[in-house]
Amino acid sequence: MDLLNTLVDKGLRRELPTREEALAVLATSDDDLLDVVAAAGKVRRHWFGRRVKLNYLVNLKSGLCPEDCSYCSQRLGSKADILKYTWLKPDEASEAAAAGLAGGAKRVCLVASGRGPTDRDVDRVSETIKAIKDQNEGVEVCACLGLLSDGQAERLREAGADAYNHNLNTSEATYGDITTTHTYADRVDTVTKAHAAGLSACSGLIAGMGESDEDLVDVVFSLRELDPDSVPVNFLIPFEGTPLAKEWNLTPQRCLRILAMVRFVCPDVEVRIAGGREVHLRTMQPLALHLANSIFLGDYLTSEGQAGKADLEMIADAGFEVEGADQVTLPEHRASGGCHQDASDGCHDGASGGCHDGGVCGTAADAAPSVNEPRTDLVAVRRRGAGTDLAPNA
Ligand code: SF4
Repeated sequence: MDLLNTLVDKGLRRELPTREEALAVLATSDDDLLDVVAAAGKVRRHWFGRRVKLNYLVNLKSGLCPEDCSYCSQRLGSKADILKYTWLKPDEASEAAAAGLAGGAKRVCLVASGRGPTDRDVDRVSETIKAIKDQNEGVEVCACLGLLSDGQAERLREAGADAYNHNLNTSEATYGDITTTHTYADRVDTVTKAHAAGLSACSGLIAGMGESDEDLVDVVFSLRELDPDSVPVNFLIPFEGTPLAKEWNLTPQRCLRILAMVRFVCPDVEVRIAGGREVHLRTMQPLALHLANSIFLGDYLTSEGQAGKADLEMIADAGFEVEGADQVTLPEHRASGGCHQDASDGCHDGASGGCHDGGVCGTAADAAPSVNEPRTDLVAVRRRGAGTDLAPNA
């Protein structure tokens, strides 16, 4: 297929595809799906080999958020029966992180619900970062605390944070439909602040919230312009008790097309399959490893993932290897820092953001609504690990 040959060539050169090419990936038929995966897989292997980076989530503070992100089980007014607790102490968070690191993770993602941290919260998280770094040599720490005020990114960087996550989540045009308590521009501002402070920017999206193909392409092109080092791709988990509980629109095939499109548009970036992997890809998860080079190990913030052991077995069975702490994730031109400009794309300072849990959506390849039966049986509220007395899943 000419389209796929063109996209592979562009991906190997870090050249931006056209919007039409990105849309065409989302519109491919099921008959072409394996060809799409094979083509995007070539780009993935060129930049990341067969390595899979494992990341481990520690939910520092769960629920009770004043913001109204409609996809989120921790939102204002959420009726989801999730764990609710306030800040973990640094030693409690460090203990939770240690479980993920022992399970093979090389990055710990410290997440807290809320609009954004107070300066006292930044102190608290700084102590937690130090505790984790003191006890785990070489660990990468990413913070995800919501919208940042001036100077907070610098303080997190000084405390030892390597990265900051804030997702764009969806297109600028539809952002106001999913959240009213902050704006897309707020999110962009926080990613910009993180980038400017020397933190590795992590910013991604949620698919499955009812967005169009154009919206998906818009947000991924915005991310390319923002130039994060890592792009988490969430597939909406339609939590009962949230406004998007009925949005069961994704199929495994749709998820694979979305991941392939993200890989073609952001070829040399750490593409991470985030929330919703087990719920929407289901038995097709191993195929998605040919597209993404990074996943979360074990559980998510408020929902359970498959057993950490099953994640490791899946990686090995599919012929991939877990990336070691001594291996550099990013290609040399990115790992060396500085501007990630390529031949076709200017160097832009960031925009984007978002935090927290994953979401869903989609129209089918032929633009008709895809049919996916609700799989509420696959959505389990997290009842173990951080904030509980039970052992974590790692
Ligand atoms: S995504 Fe973050 S800011 Fe939005 S409701 Fe959830 S916890 Fe709050």
